[in-house]
Amino acid sequence: MPVQNHSLYAQTTEETDIIDITPQVTKQVKESAIKNGCVTLFIPGSTAALTTIEFESGVINDLKKSIDRMAPEDMYYEHNERWGDGNGYAHVRAAMIGPSLNIPVIEAKLALGTWQQIVLIDFDNRPRERRILVQISGD
Ligand code: ZN
Repeated sequence: MPVQNHSLYAQTTEETDIIDITPQVTKQVKESAIKNGCVTLFIPGSTAALTTIEFESGVINDLKKSIDRMAPEDMYYEHNERWGDGNGYAHVRAAMIGPSLNIPVIEAKLALGTWQQIVLIDFDNRPRERRILVQISGD
């Protein structure tokens, strides 16, 4: 089974960024010429995460507020004492959502729902140039 490794990149800010990466992933799956298989997305780094959501501003704001309630930025985090980088909340948030996704590729298309987009969420408290690994396997 052929396996192809690609990357995509996103520039983020010091605020929580939620970025729709569906167009880039769709393009890479198309260019891979793989018809049936799977795409694995993985973000190396412990302050960012990948998930899917309907990419519209209402639910994006709802997600941001829900994440704020789960791991508020202004709480006490032991991590901040250890490193002094002030991003304990970002590590906890990223761990709760997770760093990877697996999406089936069926007849050369991502098996996403109509209202389901792939998003990168960057929680870190400084701008980052993020690299996302895109591994496409199948035949
Ligand atoms: Zn840290």
